[in-house]
Amino acid sequence: MKLDGRRMSTNVDDRRKKGSTAAKVGGGIGGGIIIALIVWLLGGKAPDVGTILQDVQSTASTWVDSKTQEQMATKCSQFLASTEDFWAEEFEKVGGYYRQPKLVLYSDTVTTGCGHHQAKCIGPFYCSADECVFIDINQMVAHYSAKGQVCDLVYAEIIGHEVGHHVEYLRGEMEKMNEMAYRYGKESPQFLQWSVRIELLADYYAGCWAHFEDERFGSISDDEIRKTLDMMPSKGDDYIQKKAKGYANPETFTHGTSEQRYRWFKKGLESGDPAAGRVILTMPYDQL
Ligand SMILES: [Zn+2]
Repeated sequence: MKLDGRRMSTNVDDRRKKGSTAAKVGGGIGGGIIIALIVWLLGGKAPDVGTILQDVQSTASTWVDSKTQEQMATKCSQFLASTEDFWAEEFEKVGGYYRQPKLVLYSDTVTTGCGHHQAKCIGPFYCSADECVFIDINQMVAHYSAKGQVCDLVYAEIIGHEVGHHVEYLRGEMEKMNEMAYRYGKESPQFLQWSVRIELLADYYAGCWAHFEDERFGSISDDEIRKTLDMMPSKGDDYIQKKAKGYANPETFTHGTSEQRYRWFKKGLESGDPAAGRVILTMPYDQL
């Protein structure tokens, strides 16, 4: 992508460990529990755990060199800035105000309002309690570069998808997930099907943003679009489950199939119209 001279976001919270002088991240899990306990002892409510949307899991343990990591940190900040421009305009169109999320860059483990997480188990994710996107750059680059041909847009799509979850949170589209979890439990078809809808909508939103990015800045090449579309099927539940255990069980899907993820991202990329994607939340599940 053409990113030279592009604005960087002021919403990046860099909590990565620097060499041997590792900065302490968050309060650590112990800190979180102690705070919750104190709040509880004082008779208050324990902190809300919030909704967490986690994406591609990875066991990548390769170490990406620090120069590549620094370059990717800069790019992620530029991607985020571009999503801020896009969504601010989209919210304005309907008389709304876009409250920007933060992007937290971390190394290995992080404590959030949605719990304590290890990058290798969780991949990039969004936590609504913090209104933050969390990314371990080393894990992300190692994971995707091992999968096939990568380019800036492959990584930009990840930021676009996670920011898409933030938009869903602001628009109340995520609320129903909490309702389904509360009423039927997180293993229920009701909850899992809503999860698939929310994930496909985030793919669609990522596509809409990429459409804006290219229209505004002429920044994306056809080759990058091809590579990014080629990468989408590797994010499908059927692909991931077959790879892990040899078969796929559609009743346990949380993100949608390879074909669905490819198709909804592509639709967003072609239309650039977020409003048209809301049909994902209302159409019959078997037609998604
Ligand atoms: Zn997601």
